[in-house]
Amino acid sequence: MSEHLLENRLNEFFGRKLPMDESAENTPRQTFGCFGSLVEPNCSFPDAKFLCYSKQLMETLGLGHINIEDESNLKLLSGQRQSAHAKAYAQCYGGYQFGHWAGQLGDGRAINLGVLTCADGLSMEIQLKGAGLTPYSRMGDGAAVLRSSIREYLASEAMFFLEIPTTRAMSIALTGESVYRDKFYNGFGAMEPSAIVSRVAPSFIRFGSFDLPSHRKEYPFLQQLANVTIERHFPQLMQNTDDIKDGANRYVRMFARVVERTAEMIALWQSVGFVHGVMNTDNMSILGLTIDYGPYGFMDKFDPEYTPNTSDLPGKRYCFGRQYAVGAWNLQRLAESLSVLIPQPAAESVLAHYQEHFLHSWQEIMKRKFGFTKIEEVEQNLLNEWYELMQGHTLDLNERFRSLGRSLRDEDPEFFIKIFVDTEQQDIIAKWRLWYEKYLNAIGDNRKDIGTKLCQVNPRVILRNHLLHRVIESTEKGDHTLFMKVNEMIQRPFDDWDNEEDLLSVAPDWALEKNVAMNSCSS
Ligand code: AMP
Ligand code: MG
Repeated sequence: MSEHLLENRLNEFFGRKLPMDESAENTPRQTFGCFGSLVEPNCSFPDAKFLCYSKQLMETLGLGHINIEDESNLKLLSGQRQSAHAKAYAQCYGGYQFGHWAGQLGDGRAINLGVLTCADGLSMEIQLKGAGLTPYSRMGDGAAVLRSSIREYLASEAMFFLEIPTTRAMSIALTGESVYRDKFYNGFGAMEPSAIVSRVAPSFIRFGSFDLPSHRKEYPFLQQLANVTIERHFPQLMQNTDDIKDGANRYVRMFARVVERTAEMIALWQSVGFVHGVMNTDNMSILGLTIDYGPYGFMDKFDPEYTPNTSDLPGKRYCFGRQYAVGAWNLQRLAESLSVLIPQPAAESVLAHYQEHFLHSWQEIMKRKFGFTKIEEVEQNLLNEWYELMQGHTLDLNERFRSLGRSLRDEDPEFFIKIFVDTEQQDIIAKWRLWYEKYLNAIGDNRKDIGTKLCQVNPRVILRNHLLHRVIESTEKGDHTLFMKVNEMIQRPFDDWDNEEDLLSVAPDWALEKNVAMNSCSS
């Protein structure tokens, strides 16, 4: 059996222990009491080829020796066949969308190929996004366009290298075909090139995976799903002998981990101005991973009301300033979905710790980003003033943090101010100088060392909206140079990249005028 074929490394998904809809019929339908449906990827893309693949990720997965461009591997990762060793499937789940119960959703255009067992014993699922119809495709075509595939690939890889928990992306295959999309929902649609991303995570189980069986009162299945989730993803929770005495205990503790991880993930999002844009419960990972990169955005100008999703404009439910609260709301729904396994008082007491986890994570992150050893009154005041200035002047959060680190590291206080070029900004400059003076007093003498550390946590490379816009435009025209360059830069986000100022600058005027910071869900 050739080790050079990816398919030979794939195993049957552990979820196969769970009931599955085995019919392998693609027709849209409701499927009950099952984890998902078997779906055979059978696209035909004679001109398929890779736009890119991540050697770094392949190595981590123990696939470093594989020639991914081999015909068989390309076919597997472009939705043209499945592995002989693992039956492909689509997951069934439900979700609350924009605050309302939406019923069954499921993987409408995601197909799971199987599981890789990595050298460290961890297992990783490989999933294709955009590889054709499944029983959950509803009105959709099961395809994904190139622009959304680029957005998913680059953002998830950027998040990974920023050390923010996320699903990862292994490849983008260009299908050589086009699909119709009405990108602005205005009736003026067009054909767009389609593509398939392969993405990787220990699990793609979502809050919505539990919401659906709970709504349908499929309690035995719900419990089986929780058991499999714990066995595979929280095995340490099985070791406690309490579980034997009290069967409910392990579910409470699983829920506590989900609460903790979700709080930490959102604190990290806030620290880099990342706005997910569609925090529906079907897009919330049970492992606290950032998942389903749709109309997300890194905030160009500090604004708690910024939402990158045009469909979210009416209520701004998913704007920057509400992500913490939406996280809590989604966790409350999850507690309800698990209520047959978790007594209500236990769920409430776990939920009560969400704020504490968030604040703890937030403070630890802030200490790192500012180089504080503690957060007491002086530091707290500096933090409050920092965010007041940020909001008052609608500045780029990541630029400010990076400039802070760099000015200390290079012993060049003016570096911190140089972003303000306009003479009309004298008032702003004076405020920032004052803040900087107070900050220098607070951090003590080893400024250069602190600056060096700050530059290791405050990224230089941010996948800003203007940059993504340019990458997508050029790649769609067939020029892959900028994509490759950006793909390289996101893997070393803490380097200075001084020759790339044009790509790494804060949002230029043209981008603000064009409003490239907003996208629709059309993908
Ligand atoms: P999303 O907003 O990407 O999380 O998608 C919400 C739901 O719509 C999920 O169930 C997706 O699988 C489904 N979906 C999105 N786009 C498509 C498509 N082109 N074809 C089929 N299903 C889709
Ligand atoms: Mg989704």
